[in-house]
Amino acid sequence: MSKHTASVALAVVLWFASMLLAQSARPTQELIRDATTQASPRVWTAEDLFRRNIQTPAQQRTPFTPHKIVGNIYYVGTEALSSFLITTPQGHILIDSTYEGNVPGIKDSVEKLGFKFSDIKILLGSHAHGDHQEGDAMVVEMTGAKAMAMAEDIAALSSMRTPSGKARPNYQPLHDQEQVKLGDMTLVAHLTPGHTHGCTTWTLQVIEDGKTHDVVIIGSMGINSNSVRMWQNGALTSLGEEYARGFKAMHELHGDVVLGSHPAMHGMQEKYARLKAGGTPNPYIDPTGYQTELDLEEGAYKLLIQTQQKESPQP
Ligand SMILES: [Zn+2]
Repeated sequence: MSKHTASVALAVVLWFASMLLAQSARPTQELIRDATTQASPRVWTAEDLFRRNIQTPAQQRTPFTPHKIVGNIYYVGTEALSSFLITTPQGHILIDSTYEGNVPGIKDSVEKLGFKFSDIKILLGSHAHGDHQEGDAMVVEMTGAKAMAMAEDIAALSSMRTPSGKARPNYQPLHDQEQVKLGDMTLVAHLTPGHTHGCTTWTLQVIEDGKTHDVVIIGSMGINSNSVRMWQNGALTSLGEEYARGFKAMHELHGDVVLGSHPAMHGMQEKYARLKAGGTPNPYIDPTGYQTELDLEEGAYKLLIQTQQKESPQP
């Protein structure tokens, strides 16, 4: 064995050992992100995370108690699909209409919080999948809001089916790092592709009790099936590369409040229970939450690549 071969072999062994350690060192508790999670697998696969996020059809349709999250951000979505209301004296921003059938429930939630649905001026979204943005046409019709979306998602959003047959909104295109301003609020759209071509992670700052907090609203870095090809013929597929770009962009973000397009991404059940019990400080202020969720989602992506690398090359 040459010196070179030996050092390569050593490097491979060390890499493998570090992967095993990284997986076994992850405490089970850390993986339990939501009270509704049942089993807690040692390492989350893409499908484990998908099931954690998507929950049941009933949970996707059942409004969750509307509540203030932090500063002027409010939760107005269902048990399994997030909708966020960001209020300003000059009108409001809604992120994610979810299913069209959920829109009346979102309106109720906004009103229960003491705001007017018709004061929504801007409609944004996380990504071009029906469970997050099917209802856009109805929100625009009911509020007259301007719909804006990452340019890379507009083709999919425009061809999305709407159960009522309403015409899809005319989306104003946004680009990576573009700011959306309303009143005293500035949101930044970050292109975090992979889950969809224009999947968008939003960042903003809010003030609560005189303190400024960095908020990250994760679009999704999820992979909906373990059979999605990330690696083929000795290389990342184009989708695998797209996810790699998405994770790179995600690593550049920082938040001490994490939110996600599915509430399981930010452990809403558990945080809301603490909030309701009078928890101080605000349980949504969670300086490690963003990194933990990012690691979980990236871990599933890496695991899928490792699994596909071990398989024989596809013909
Ligand atoms: Zn999706």
